[in-house]
Amino acid sequence: MSLPNIKNLSLPALEEKILSWGVKSYVRDQILIWLYRERVTSFDEMTNLSKELRRRLAETFVIDRMEVERTLHSVDGSQKFLFKLADGQKIESVLMPQKNDRLTLCISSQVGCAIGCCFCKTAEMGLMRNLTQGEILGQVLEVQQTLPHKKRISNIVFMGMGEPFHNYETVISALKLLRDPRCFNFGKRKITVSTSGLAPEIEKFGKDADVKLALSLNATTDPSRTEIMPINKAFPMERLQKACRTYNDLTGLTITIEYVLFAGLNDSREDAKRLVRFLSPLNTKINVIPYNEYPGSPFKRPSDEKIRDFHHTLADHNFQVNIRYSKGLDIMGACGQLATA
Ligand code: SAH
Ligand code: SF4
Repeated sequence: MSLPNIKNLSLPALEEKILSWGVKSYVRDQILIWLYRERVTSFDEMTNLSKELRRRLAETFVIDRMEVERTLHSVDGSQKFLFKLADGQKIESVLMPQKNDRLTLCISSQVGCAIGCCFCKTAEMGLMRNLTQGEILGQVLEVQQTLPHKKRISNIVFMGMGEPFHNYETVISALKLLRDPRCFNFGKRKITVSTSGLAPEIEKFGKDADVKLALSLNATTDPSRTEIMPINKAFPMERLQKACRTYNDLTGLTITIEYVLFAGLNDSREDAKRLVRFLSPLNTKINVIPYNEYPGSPFKRPSDEKIRDFHHTLADHNFQVNIRYSKGLDIMGACGQLATA
């Protein structure tokens, strides 16, 4: 029988296991540091542990690595990593250099996605399976491993393939390790989890996690949102608004509203005004994302003028709003373009 991958254990489960061997708490901390900060690939490299403890770890666990099958480089400096998982499935992560030396890694939470938004390439794959914790963390570990010494991933966004809240428990468990100072040590404002709008999980997330939330809203009326995002049938906009308010109240954190602009569908001045009304009771900032087309995509990107006009209407109402031109368009690494099947 093969041994479990140590990176699949939740933080409490791993700590409990190690302490059950009578190991002191500072030694437990050293193991976590070796695994997630030093990114060792064998227990033998944990040189400040006793030989006996290293043997015990190796008899109990393995340290699985993830295989980067291919890396694509965009002219804008971003890189797309194609990972081949142990069962042959494939996922993608995108690394994006940004202003002020920020280096953001966009990671996947599932192979494919079950939500079925009609504008998104990942939806065409359907859902293959959830990622394990080891596979979520593995994306961060392996990409970090490719960077020159001293260059560090500064931000993580769960905006790759999949709906993170359909893999809720595993994502929450991975977030604990990403946040822990002995492990990845990301600050709470350095991680964002993006959802298509699972209202009950948004509320739960406010209690279970202390990182930022993004909501893919993309429309301003129930009929138009349901048309492009079928999840809106289960959780219509009023329900979503209530969930967002709960998250705001519980965490004190601002929610990022992602609003993909489609020509002629959701880019009118009336849409902008409805968006203002919908968001006014909430603490949010808005990212307007001009639609990224792909072969066979059903919609068009609005003209630059239309995009500017939409932006102005929101800004005139004192909203913090950014136009986000996606990175990695030329390598099919931009928002909504990730698919591996
Ligand atoms: N499933 C989650 C996480 C993925 S985030 C979610 O949907 O929030 C992916 C983001 O890219 C979402 O905000 C989505 O609205 C956006 N998106 C999807 N397809 C796109 C496309 N073709 N062009 C621009 N943005 C797109
Ligand atoms: Fe899934 Fe998000 Fe794509 Fe919708 S936009 S299909 S929820 S990945």
